[in-house]
This record gives sequence, C-alpha cells and structure tokens, in this order.
Amino acid sequence: MSTTRRPLKSLGQNFLVDQNIIARIIQAADIQPGQSVLEIGPGRGALTGPLAGRAGRLVLIEFDHALAAWHRDQNKDNGHVTVIDADVLKVDLDALLSESPEKWNVVANLPYNISTEVLFRLYAVHDRLARMTLMLQKEVGDRLAAPPDCSAYGVTTVLLGLWFDIIRAFVVHPGSFHPSPKVDSVVLNFIPLAEARADVGDEEVFRAVVKSSFAMRRKTLINCLKSAEFAKQLDCGELLEACAIDGRRRGETLSLEEFAALSRWVTEQLRTASEKADING
Ligand code: SAM
Repeated sequence: MSTTRRPLKSLGQNFLVDQNIIARIIQAADIQPGQSVLEIGPGRGALTGPLAGRAGRLVLIEFDHALAAWHRDQNKDNGHVTVIDADVLKVDLDALLSESPEKWNVVANLPYNISTEVLFRLYAVHDRLARMTLMLQKEVGDRLAAPPDCSAYGVTTVLLGLWFDIIRAFVVHPGSFHPSPKVDSVVLNFIPLAEARADVGDEEVFRAVVKSSFAMRRKTLINCLKSAEFAKQLDCGELLEACAIDGRRRGETLSLEEFAALSRWVTEQLRTASEKADING
C-alpha cells in the first residue's frame, strides 16, 4: 500500500510538502496534552504524524478510500487513532464529537471545493469545539474577516462571526503544495466564544434570515426576505419597520447586530403564531 498515486483534482488533493509550513500549522493548532483532535482530509499525512504524537485521541475523516486504507494500516498499532473512510459532508459531526465529553480541536487543510460547506457544518457544532485551525483558499478566508458593505462580506462572515473569534495566522503560497494550486491559501484560527456575539433568538431562524438576505445580491433586502420560507407567515415590511432597517438596502450592508434584530423579531412572530395555532387546536 502506498500514497504515490497521482493526486486527485476532484478531491482537491493539494498536499502540503513544506516542512516549515507544516510545523507552523501544528504550532498554530496548539494541541493540549490528551486532547481529542479531528483532522478532516489527512491526505498523505503531512499533518497527521505530528497530530498523532500530540493528541490523546485523533479521528481522521478521509474520502479517498486508498488513503483512508493507508492511514488505517499506518496506525494499526496506534489505539488512539481512528480512521473514518467517508465524505465529511455525510458524517454526523454532532454524534461523532459527542463521543468525547471534552471539547475538540479541529485541524484541516480543507479541499477548496467543499470548504464553505464544511465551514457551515463546523459552525453547527461550535459548542463541541475548543479551537479550529483551518487552511482555506485565501479568498474564502478573507471573506470571514470582511466588514459589512464589501463584496467579500457574506453568509459565512455573519454566521461564523456570531460564534467565533477568527484570527488570521499566516498566508501560504502555492509552492508549499504538491501539486501547486493556482491561488494563495491562508491559515486561520477559530476560537469559539463562550456566548454568541449577539442575541439572535432562534438560531435556525437566524440562519434563514442571513441566507435569504444574501440570496440575491442585486435585489433589495425586502425582496430577498420576501422569498424566505418564514415570509409566508409574516409581513416583511412590518419586520423591517420594527427593526428600523430600510428595506431598500442590500443584505450585504447589514451588521451582525441588525441581522440579530431581524432574527429576534421573526423568532418572536413565529412563536406567537405557533402558540395561537395550538390554542385554536
Ligand atoms: N491534509 C493533507 C495535507 O495537508 O497535505 C491533505 C490536504 S488536501 C488539500 C484535502 C484532503 O481532503 C485530501 O486528502 C482529500 O482526499 C480529502 N477530501 C476531499 N474531499 C473530502 C471529503 N468530502 N471528505 C473527506 N475528505 C475529503
């Protein structure tokens, strides 16, 4: 069994080969003795060896069956390393992370093509995390730190900003990988907050408000909100008036606090509507 097969573009296989960058990522991850660590996409193991040496428990999720088998073989004598041969987007992360009572550290050089979707999934399990150290395409990383009213500001900026401090560690150039990607990457540390940055009411409602506000970037906020599922049960004009937000604005101009205000109001209205429905049988 070997890892020398040609890297698969379809799985975003740009393997780290720069020992200096590998050491810096491990340092940024700041693994505490005995900690549970999840590595998504271990690939040819650039980060895996140093992680296995530090973690109390290490779980690897790898979708390339040959590489997953290779990791299983490499770790047959390491009882603290588990290999999951699966698509990370299909793994029930909440169930997996709840196997350990302590909070997890997630480390990954994420495949570019699924990085945003993985971020949404990790956001959903923020309460099970102690820290995440993720390498992303630089453009995606820049989006996470973008202020309102700039083109990079988007759904990931608002959702992850609610629960994490996001700290840019360093930029990684294409020459640090084999094969070299066309663009720069960035390593970010995500430190979960003990409390959300804003009171958003129901978080599912918050996600719906944020996603619908960015769904059609050229349309006004009121038109975006009207297309949301929740708009079937309430008046979006009233919603915007109650929150003192001009419906002619674009979603990308709203601050986290403004999204939170919209979300609280929608949460309240939906709760009242459902209570009324219960009373009326
Ligand atoms: N961690 C290694 C490194 O830094 O060299 C590999 C990083 S490479 C950018 C991304 C890795 O994620 C590859 O090993 C790829 O096979 C794996 N991968 C791609 N899609 C995946 C998915 N949906 N679920 C789990 N792993 C995936």
